[in-house]
Amino acid sequence: MQAVSAQESELSASERREALKEVFAQARDCTRCAELAATRKTVVFGAGNADAELMFVGEAPGASEDEQGVPFVGQAGKLLEKLLGEIGMARSEVFIANVLKCRPPANRDPQPIEIENCKEYLYRQVELIQPSVICTLGNFSTKLLREDPTGITRVHGHPEVLTLGRRTVRLYPIFHPAAALYTPRMLETLREDFARLPELLALGAPEQPEWTQAPEMDDIAIPELDTSAADAGKAGAQAPAGPDQLDLF
Ligand code: URA
Repeated sequence: MQAVSAQESELSASERREALKEVFAQARDCTRCAELAATRKTVVFGAGNADAELMFVGEAPGASEDEQGVPFVGQAGKLLEKLLGEIGMARSEVFIANVLKCRPPANRDPQPIEIENCKEYLYRQVELIQPSVICTLGNFSTKLLREDPTGITRVHGHPEVLTLGRRTVRLYPIFHPAAALYTPRMLETLREDFARLPELLALGAPEQPEWTQAPEMDDIAIPELDTSAADAGKAGAQAPAGPDQLDLF
């Protein structure tokens, strides 16, 4: 049987980054959730290194994120940055996204239909960024990506190899930093779970599947790409600074 590799795996880092920007452009105009589209100020697509080995997935933007268009800019984000610093990493090295790209009014919980509507953007992000490790923060992202209702309290700190769309990753659920802000015991647990991240990252990406037929994930099409763009390569690739970054990545 002849194996056909997924389209993204053949794209260079810069091509994947350009494709990610295209997906961002599509998300910016998204009206799949009428209420969220009507009440949001910005679409908070995600931010960070578009070629990151480590990706975080939170729940949904809050008020500050909705204002600024950047995820995790409030207190929970500051804690996330602090914990990253404690393991010798900077926010600019990782990619941070959410299950929902739009703020639910009054920070209510994401509704199942909203998660369903939005999940394709997250899967496309994973396919294009190609992280080795995805850290799910809290219940919503953990349940979505594990496709299992087991809560974060039971599964936090337990990495598992999972295939999301066309990318196989090490999924690592941890508590949401917002939950740890005012609960010292939870913060301690979060810190302990964080401390295992370097060893998980050191394992590298799990073996990737070879598709005889790519899974159907193409409602958000892979855009036409300018293949003349230089391939910075995964190792040591830095997103160039400047307006090209859209202030995001
Ligand atoms: N909490 C989240 O889950 N996401 C954000 O972007 C901010 C807070």
